Amino acid sequence: RQHRQRIVAGNWKMHGSRSFVSEYVPALLGKLDTLDADTRVVLIPPSIYIGEVRAQVQNRATQQPRITWGAQNVSAEAEGAFTGEIAAEMARDQGCDYCIVGHSERRHLFAETDEVVAAKVEQIVAHGLTAIVCVGETLSQRQAGQAEQVVARQVEACLAKVPGNSWDKIVLAYEPVWAIGTGKTASAGDAQAIHASIRKVLENMQAPAQTIPLLYGGSVKPDNAEELFAQPDIDGGLVGGASLDAESFSAICRAC
Ligand code: PEP
Repeated sequence: RQHRQRIVAGNWKMHGSRSFVSEYVPALLGKLDTLDADTRVVLIPPSIYIGEVRAQVQNRATQQPRITWGAQNVSAEAEGAFTGEIAAEMARDQGCDYCIVGHSERRHLFAETDEVVAAKVEQIVAHGLTAIVCVGETLSQRQAGQAEQVVARQVEACLAKVPGNSWDKIVLAYEPVWAIGTGKTASAGDAQAIHASIRKVLENMQAPAQTIPLLYGGSVKPDNAEELFAQPDIDGGLVGGASLDAESFSAICRAC
């Protein structure tokens, strides 16, 4: 297997509270002392709690930078009259290293297109953050045998504006829509096949296909993480539901 950065990112979605942060983060960090030195753990709370997560992680300075934090979404605009939005620069100002972009919930519930995702990726990398760019097919697309094609198109469109010198700021997350929050996971073999196909797409785009981390997401749990992460082209995971439990999430991180 090629040597690549390994990453486990926990997407809290719209869950958590100040008291959750103050209990969960110390509990999690206490369970990550034996983490593999090559693995990065990214905590991705709702943006209003990023400052609190940051403070908790910084209290355990010895674990940085292996344990870091990020944002779930930023605006496609740099700044201005966009009530309710946050800018990539603001995420950077809060010390974020990563930002999720193009999550299927953003695409389906907030009508984000590949073009919007591409504009957000541009903002994210321009401000020195790493974009975790989510792609994945729906159930009907998979059943129609179109999974590879759909994902290839998303990868090409979402990465269309990445400057040639910023590929080290890109992580892709393959998240089949039918596996997110459903308890259904792609088989390790099916996930690996899509990951391998994504590397081919990246190669065709003249991107450094062998060094870009590719994460799998969709109902990753302690009991399936090891098999998924053992696949040659799966470099870690984007974890939703199971990231809210320190015991489960730490087990997934250790499996990486
Ligand atoms: C996600 O939110 O990116 C995700 C994969 O969720 P879950 O792990 O709950 O399926």
